[in-house]
Amino acid sequence: MPVSAAASAREILVRLHDVMAARTTAQAKLNQVVQIIGDATASEVCSIYLLREGVLELFATQGLDQAAVHVTRLAMGEGLVGTIAEESEPLNLDEAASHPDFAYRPETGEDKFHSFAGVPIIRRERAVGVLCVQHVEPRRYADVEIEALQTVAMVLAELIANADLIDGATSASRPAPQAPMRIEGLKLVDGMARGLAVFHQPRITIEHTVAEDTEAERHRVYAAFDRMREQIERMSAQAEFGMGGEHEEVLQTYKMFAYDEGWSRRINEAIDSGLTAEAAIERVQQRTRTRMRQIDDPLLAERMHDLEDLANRLLRIVSGQMGTAAQMGLRQDSILIARNLGPAELLEYDRRRLKGVILEEGSLTAHVTIVARAMGVPVLGRVRDVRRLVSEGDLLLLDVTAGTVFARPTPAIEESFEAKLSLSQKRRASFAALRELPPTTLDGKRITLMVNAGLRDDVAALDLTGADGIGLFRTEFQFLVSATLPQRERQQRLYRDVLDAAGQRPVIFRTVDIGGDKVLPYLRDDSGSEENPAMGWRALRLALERGGLMKAQARALIEAAAGRTLNVMFPMVSEPWEYEEARALFEAQHAWLAQRGRKLPSDIRYGAMLEVPALAEMLDVLLPRLDFLSVGTNDLTQFLFAADRANPKLAERYDWLSPSILRFLSRIVGPARAHGVDLAVCGEMGGRALEAMALIGIGIDRLSITPAAVGPIKAMIRSLDHAKLTHDVPAMLATPPRDLRATLAAWAADHQVELN
Ligand code: PEP
Ligand code: MG
Repeated sequence: MPVSAAASAREILVRLHDVMAARTTAQAKLNQVVQIIGDATASEVCSIYLLREGVLELFATQGLDQAAVHVTRLAMGEGLVGTIAEESEPLNLDEAASHPDFAYRPETGEDKFHSFAGVPIIRRERAVGVLCVQHVEPRRYADVEIEALQTVAMVLAELIANADLIDGATSASRPAPQAPMRIEGLKLVDGMARGLAVFHQPRITIEHTVAEDTEAERHRVYAAFDRMREQIERMSAQAEFGMGGEHEEVLQTYKMFAYDEGWSRRINEAIDSGLTAEAAIERVQQRTRTRMRQIDDPLLAERMHDLEDLANRLLRIVSGQMGTAAQMGLRQDSILIARNLGPAELLEYDRRRLKGVILEEGSLTAHVTIVARAMGVPVLGRVRDVRRLVSEGDLLLLDVTAGTVFARPTPAIEESFEAKLSLSQKRRASFAALRELPPTTLDGKRITLMVNAGLRDDVAALDLTGADGIGLFRTEFQFLVSATLPQRERQQRLYRDVLDAAGQRPVIFRTVDIGGDKVLPYLRDDSGSEENPAMGWRALRLALERGGLMKAQARALIEAAAGRTLNVMFPMVSEPWEYEEARALFEAQHAWLAQRGRKLPSDIRYGAMLEVPALAEMLDVLLPRLDFLSVGTNDLTQFLFAADRANPKLAERYDWLSPSILRFLSRIVGPARAHGVDLAVCGEMGGRALEAMALIGIGIDRLSITPAAVGPIKAMIRSLDHAKLTHDVPAMLATPPRDLRATLAAWAADHQVELN
């Protein structure tokens, strides 16, 4: 076996090239191919299984019994071959029979072969067959050999598709199903939209995989890299990105990859193995995808998506198939469909025509989701197979609120969707009309209604909603969308811009709450991965240990708030000393800046989040030291019920309207009031109408909620009789009914509370 993957693959590829060019039948070509690969890898068996009618069929073999050809058939997931195809991952075994998925097929006569290695043959990101080699001796194939097999499998995919041997090889020309279809997904950015399906990327078909002239291919890739870098530099210069903020940081990540030596080197190596420029880029991308599947770190996986975004761009440039739907321009109201999108790609679209986005992947913390939210474009994610189920030009009704999209709807479906859409538009309009009106109850109790924010663009929500301020600014968002730790100057710039935009309205900056599900690749726990990250080394615990991080943030905040009031809040305080230590750190920075004659805030107000239940037992110690206290019900609930907030199985299990939570919260209200400490709730709970009503009922009069909820919550508040509510809810809690939610809902109905 040759020493390097490149040399090994090239040797095979050169011979395959001749086979592919010959004028023989596809079957004859496959028969030659297994011989070539078997010889080159010194294997006693080489076989090709291809997907036909949904089943993997032995199409050609050298070494197994020829009688098994077109006879041995395995379902997806069946046997080693079915497992490789189903998981789209190679297998490499020195003792095949000891693998749990091994399925013996007597007609093949394979019982004497011990070792087995197989790789999927992938076309359009789907396994369409399996290439495998076997050997009598129980030897394990080397990594370079597996690598070479994968490269060969890519070339085979081309040969097979051209010969029309597999299922779906002609799917591009096969008409899509015409029936109406309801497809489900994950709510990423809420909203409803109607539009025609537009595919972000018309598929790039790789015409040739084997290079005629390796040096020429290398030059093509170099030129494409240059062009891609130019494009990214140009994007940076555009006004959209020039303003700084998150987009700038996303672009920094792009730049990092675009200039990444490792990436271009891997493509170069793939070219060395005899592939064309296109095939080499795709080969590296395939490998990246496999790696991505194995990574259990959502943030790192997001970075990999950025890399995919760029790889697609490179592929388009090198193949001359340049146009994304954005470059061709949207001609009508459109719903964009993509496997995944980079944020920069999303920003290339005409906002007037782009009504919604559907992704096969996507997650709440992905850059693209953050950007779409800022653009006000609804996004439905994790919609499996959408690119197969929907055709370009299909009418789509996107209802992210319900977590669905309807393709090719019937008139009746369309009618009911339109009714819901117009209702939600009307409701939005009526909420917008409330903007100037205060959140005051019928009997004159003024509730303070603030918004939660974390990105520069979120600040616009203040004016749009007429909120009283920002009750929770999650400063870690800037860290999350950054490829590297944001420097103090950059932090300061963001904080200053946010304060400028807020004007007279207060902004409560929460110091970084990193850790838990908010993992930063550049800031990791040295002690390795945690079993319970939500209860682990996160938030203030991490910040106090990494004093440098907190000091930089303290200085950035203090300097940004020069001449105005600074509100600082510490997350995940479990014991009063943690609060004291964090506050002392801020005070020391304040003194240090004062000594140097810097302009200081007119006032600094300090607060803590109450999200660890233990802190509630220490309020008599803590409250005299606080200016404000904010309850984070997201974390508090998971700790009170011992139920992971990120686990979908538990999401519906414990109710915010359970007596235990409301009793727990109501015990805090009196002491906070007695100490003159502002008490707010800033978890998601406050953004739901019935929950917000219950909170007001136990005496809470400050809420910080997601901007989209301000209208509905304000409408609810304006329909309340505060005196009656604060009389009745404590009575309900004193002798809780079996179903408190139902009791509260009935109370709301009896008292004409607008729950919309
Ligand atoms: C909370 O825990 O309720 C909260 C507001 O903080 P976060 O959701 O950022 O953890
Ligand atoms: Mg929290």
